[in-house]
Amino acid sequence: MQVPFLDLKAQYAGIREEVRTEVNDVLDSQICIGGAKVEELEQAIAKYCGCGYAVGASSGTDAILNALMSLEIGPGDEVITTPFTFFATAGCIARVGARAVFVDIKPGTYNIDTDKIGRAITKKTKAILPVHLFGQTADMDPIVDIAKKANLVVIEDAAQSIGANYKGRRAGTMGTCGCLSFYPSKNLGAAGDAGMILSNDAELAKKIRMMRNHGDESTYQHRLIGGNFRLDAIQAAVLLAKLPLLDKWTSERQKIAAYYNEAFAHCSKITTPAVSKEKTCVYNYYVIRVPRRDEVAKYLRQKQIGCSIYYPLPLHMQECFSDWGYSQDDFPESEKAAEQVLALPIYPELTAEQKDCVITAVLGAVED
Ligand SMILES: *Cc1c(COP(=O)(O)O)cnc(C)c1O
Repeated sequence: MQVPFLDLKAQYAGIREEVRTEVNDVLDSQICIGGAKVEELEQAIAKYCGCGYAVGASSGTDAILNALMSLEIGPGDEVITTPFTFFATAGCIARVGARAVFVDIKPGTYNIDTDKIGRAITKKTKAILPVHLFGQTADMDPIVDIAKKANLVVIEDAAQSIGANYKGRRAGTMGTCGCLSFYPSKNLGAAGDAGMILSNDAELAKKIRMMRNHGDESTYQHRLIGGNFRLDAIQAAVLLAKLPLLDKWTSERQKIAAYYNEAFAHCSKITTPAVSKEKTCVYNYYVIRVPRRDEVAKYLRQKQIGCSIYYPLPLHMQECFSDWGYSQDDFPESEKAAEQVLALPIYPELTAEQKDCVITAVLGAVED
């Protein structure tokens, strides 16, 4: 049996009419930049996440870029983050001319090791940029605490974690601001690129809003140099059609994760995802660790079971960041994770047969 890593066609088949109705509203109105749908989505996401303000963005990447620009982080500044994340996290730091100061991850949750943040702070540090990887938040209380004491801002990269809880609060709402991505493979995915910035700071939200439209305060009066970081109205329409289903989809993901966890529990070669007690994970990815990972991945692909590696090369080892002066062995936990992680199919439309097929194949691969 074939099990694709992700099956967006199966998702679309169930929501075709709702999506088309919302999209047709936009096309009929021909208000395709800004307008009612974008505002409606911003309000709906702010409410869903329980925060004061939400500002649409053209992608998760542009959300991070806008956040950094609006917080005036630039040349000479340092931003603390982890090397075990998607490229955009550190790419945006580099694009504003700042330097990423990496801190290793905790091996269980793959999120930043908060015990190591303190010694990474220098006079140049301006921000901490924790990433809520795979659907679980970083340890936000210590992060916010450290930031307060050192007078730093906190930008949450919540691209993979919409709706994830930390002590009852939602990903993206605990720092100075938080960034969401609606890339199609995220838990709430658009039909193209889209993102959002969350904040409880009215002044900052206003600035972010200005920054996303070339810093335009009112008609062609530019107080700031921004960019075109606007959320597309057609994407907003697609997202409005999907948002009411997000909680149901998330709980399906959590059920699949529990099913996998149980199936792999007796196998000493498989490390299943660790979720801290005070958190709920929304499982954008279900990531196991296995020895001989590349062989396991090859075996799965031969059996037509989709799998994927997030991430095969930590960011401190990427050629384009060589100016930052990092080298191999600087972040052993990130490097070890990069060698062992393997993401398995996890989406609400997976059938019972497909889940069992994944389990049989994974157990077969590791016990080979
Ligand atoms: C997806 C993702 C982004 C970027 O989002 P895009 O919408 O693809 O630009 C940033 N950070 C992380 C951790 C992501 O997973």
